[in-house]
Amino acid sequence: MRRGREALKNGVWPADRSGMAFVTRLTRSSLVVRFGVLGAVLTTGLGVVLYTVHSDAIGERARQQAERAVVVTVRLGLQPQLTREDLANGFDPDRLTHVAAAVRSSASGLRDGDAELAALDPVELKIYDRDGEVVFADERDLIGTTSTSDDLREALEGRVVSEFSADTTDAADSHGADRRLLEVYVPVQFEGSATPDGVMEVYLPYAPVATAISEDLRTLTVTLLVSLAVFYAALFRVIAAASRRLRRQTEALRDSAERDRHQATHDALTGLPNRVLLRDRLTQALATAARSRGEVAVLHIDLDRFKEVNDTLGHSWGDRLLLQVGPRVQSVLRAGDTVARLGGDEFAVLLPVVDGVAEAQSVAERIRDALHRRFDVDGVALDIEASIGIAVSPGHGTSSEDLQRNADIAMYVAKEFKAGAVVFAPAEHVVPSSQLTVLGDLRRALEHDDELTVHYQPKYALADGRLEGAEALVRWQHPEHGAVPPAEFIPVAEGTGLILALTERVLDLALAQMRRWADAGHRLPVAVNLSTRCLLDASLPDLVTRLLARHGVPAGLLRLEVTESAVMADVARCLTVLQRLHALGVHLSIDDFGTGYSSMAHLRRLPVDELKIDQSFVQGMTVTEQDAVLVRTAIDLAHNLGLTVVAEGVEGPEHVAVLRELGCDVAQGYHLARPMPADALTGLLHRTAAEPAGATRAG
Ligand code: C2E
Ligand code: MG
Ligand code: MG
Repeated sequence: MRRGREALKNGVWPADRSGMAFVTRLTRSSLVVRFGVLGAVLTTGLGVVLYTVHSDAIGERARQQAERAVVVTVRLGLQPQLTREDLANGFDPDRLTHVAAAVRSSASGLRDGDAELAALDPVELKIYDRDGEVVFADERDLIGTTSTSDDLREALEGRVVSEFSADTTDAADSHGADRRLLEVYVPVQFEGSATPDGVMEVYLPYAPVATAISEDLRTLTVTLLVSLAVFYAALFRVIAAASRRLRRQTEALRDSAERDRHQATHDALTGLPNRVLLRDRLTQALATAARSRGEVAVLHIDLDRFKEVNDTLGHSWGDRLLLQVGPRVQSVLRAGDTVARLGGDEFAVLLPVVDGVAEAQSVAERIRDALHRRFDVDGVALDIEASIGIAVSPGHGTSSEDLQRNADIAMYVAKEFKAGAVVFAPAEHVVPSSQLTVLGDLRRALEHDDELTVHYQPKYALADGRLEGAEALVRWQHPEHGAVPPAEFIPVAEGTGLILALTERVLDLALAQMRRWADAGHRLPVAVNLSTRCLLDASLPDLVTRLLARHGVPAGLLRLEVTESAVMADVARCLTVLQRLHALGVHLSIDDFGTGYSSMAHLRRLPVDELKIDQSFVQGMTVTEQDAVLVRTAIDLAHNLGLTVVAEGVEGPEHVAVLRELGCDVAQGYHLARPMPADALTGLLHRTAAEPAGATRAG
């Protein structure tokens, strides 16, 4: 199991590789061995056949040779010594002796010239007349006897006949020499005769013939052995070479099949398993989990800032960054877990064995931590963020499709609401479609120039009624739904990265307007609202610096409002950003003061200049004693900390009176002025400039 997990991790199926190699080697070698054995058997068989055929031929040829020698001896040597009468009438004893001597000498004379005939020494000679009667024989007693053998009859018909002598019973003597005799019947026919006049029967010792045969056979054997051995060796070499080539080709084929399989199941850029392999492993893990009642988790990861890297630095940087993501994620996983790349900046993690949702969540947090550590791409530091959707079987689905889809939905929610890692939960996490529509529409609105505008609400100094500044408030004129209140889209945008783009737009519009007012001689401080999300963004101070420079507005004229609760949510992180903004010379306000739970200690540490008391307390202070106490306390607190105090939601003259009595510095509210388009405020500014000091709404 453990090895299987390791193998899975390395993208290798858990097959016993060394075992496979052994089997391959065996198959491969057995091919050559099989051929070796088969080839040897076949070659030996061929040898045996060749030997048999040739040895028979050699034996036959030797016999024929002996036969021919006899015929030649008879025809050339013996026959001239005889006359037709000798055969017809028999020999007289003198003539018989003469003939016998002549026969011997002619035979030996003939043999002298021929090496093959030299071996032939007729041991016995008989001459028959045409009736089969012996007219001459070395054994004189036989003269006058008649033979009726088939061989003789055949010879009397004109054919040369030969056979081994029938009376030689033992084929070999005590020394192993062949004792057989070759009996050859040669027809003798004189000129003018129509049929043979008689037959000569010559007995030859077979031993010389046998010796010649065995010598020939020995030569044949050696020749056969040598040539077959050479043949076998050559064939073996050819087969071994062919087998080697075949093996190489098979290996190449196997390699290419392996490569194809790898390509089909792995991501080309990162080499990580792809969607296909992930689905396979997920299906497998689900089957295993179903048997063991275990749980399987799927995590879908989306890199939030990856597009920026790609857009600003180019795709090759994006690619190099992606290459580092897999190992980062893998580093916080166990051996059997799978990291896959689904495409683009989307990754997935399969935890085939997980101890419930809690463990999946903690793995997701570990992954996020790992990915939030700075990446070094060729010396350039890159920061990305990751949104993770989590789905755990069987609760969130029991099929690979369901689990993947639900992990995807959870990831989408995590991304849209900047919620980090989100566990799929059907009821809670389905994003209301209205919110999704808002997001889509807002995204589109940000791409256009005319839908999003900024209204400005004047703020007046309570001491002298002077127009002290204005708050920039975003306005969205939806093409179909008309004016959409900020309360409907700001929280939705805050759940996503859209709030950053929205803030940038408002800052840009407000600063451009401030520039125009400044050009017209009005140095009006303007406050822009920031969301929590913006305060957590380390790049905000840079953005503000850039925009201030672009519009040529002094930092001191810009005021940034952050809600109390936003700062209190993560004081440490916000503090850094606030300090950098403060260092730029930008003024900072705590908005909606009283709704959060800020401690004195924190307030003291924050580099803020202004406190805006939430309108609910301002409006309530003339109704309940509690709110009145709170407003009074807030004003005292702010003053003790050296901060300016602004009262929001001033709706009536009674509010102005109480606030002035309490020593509040600035007032903002419908009673004094509603948020208005820039042009309207421009008109107001002109009028205010023309009016004598103190003759204002708050006065
Ligand atoms: P806020 O920053 O506290 O802004 C004051 C809100 O109170 C504004 O509502 C303003 O129209 C309203 N208001 C002013 N005087 C009175 C009054 O006398 N009575 C009553 N009942 N309301 C008054 P608005 O414009 O609807 O904005 C609501 C909130 O939306 C803002 O509260 C602020 O938190 C947020 N917001 C508006 N513009 C932006 C923006 O550009 N960026 C961000 N992040 N938030 C914004
Ligand atoms: Mg505000
Ligand atoms: Mg407020």
